[in-house]
Amino acid sequence: MKNLPATAVIREVGLRDGLQSIATILPTARKCEWVSRAYAAGQREIEVGSFVPPKLLPQLADTAEVLAYAQTLPGLVASVLVPNLKGAERALDANADLMLLPLSASHAHSLANLRKTPDEVVDEMRRIRAARDASGKKTLIEGGVGTAFGCALQGEVKHSEVLRLMQALLDAGADRVSLADTVGYADPRSVSDLFEQALRIAGGAFCCGHFHDTRGLALANVYAALQLGVTRFDASLAGIGGCPHAPGASGNAATEDLAFMLEASGVRTGMDLPLLLDLRQQLVHWLDGEPTHGTLWRAGLPKTFHSQP
Ligand code: ZN
Repeated sequence: MKNLPATAVIREVGLRDGLQSIATILPTARKCEWVSRAYAAGQREIEVGSFVPPKLLPQLADTAEVLAYAQTLPGLVASVLVPNLKGAERALDANADLMLLPLSASHAHSLANLRKTPDEVVDEMRRIRAARDASGKKTLIEGGVGTAFGCALQGEVKHSEVLRLMQALLDAGADRVSLADTVGYADPRSVSDLFEQALRIAGGAFCCGHFHDTRGLALANVYAALQLGVTRFDASLAGIGGCPHAPGASGNAATEDLAFMLEASGVRTGMDLPLLLDLRQQLVHWLDGEPTHGTLWRAGLPKTFHSQP
């Protein structure tokens, strides 16, 4: 395809974004098997969990153990989500490659979920950057602006506000920034509009698009961002995850579907699709009874598909 990047990275977020919204607690050994098999399938960036209090998210209580395992795999970038300075200190102690501080551009969503205004989260970013610099650690800091396309509580979130907060995160010391459509409100046109402006502001510090498939547009939205030159996307195996305001709704873009779309379009991901589909089947078995999503698994790869070596 013309105007598409030659390569793209799929960052697996199923172990965090997916599992946090599923009641089943996946045992640590199975999470490590997931990480190991995703690595074997070519995945090189994995968000392994979140340093939130275990009381809030018992599903992710073993994040430090899963991170320690992920760090044994050469060349794997293992990241964690951190909600605040306390979480960031744990990520620094554990030598995570990357920590992601989420900020919700919707004031209503931010207050409901983080009990902070977006600008208070910017202040937290400043404290986290100071802690990182004082620690001498190499852990990268990503500021992720969520509800970037609107939110179920507040409705409209203005692009100007999203961009203001993204700039504020960079000014507060984020090494890089990303945008997330937390509730599946984005469409290809709004992605084109917002991402173009975000790229103009952040340049090379703009690192990732995170789309939910709540309304079936996750892959279309990825494609719109891809055409602007964005080369990293979050996704979760079997599309696990969901939308807190829409029970039963789809979760993140499905890793296997996204890898298929990219490879079929000539964008190299380094992923082995048959191995990924095997792992998906295993995960669905582990999560017996939980909703899973995605499309590729139903009919498998087309006979005409050849992943480029
Ligand atoms: Zn998400």
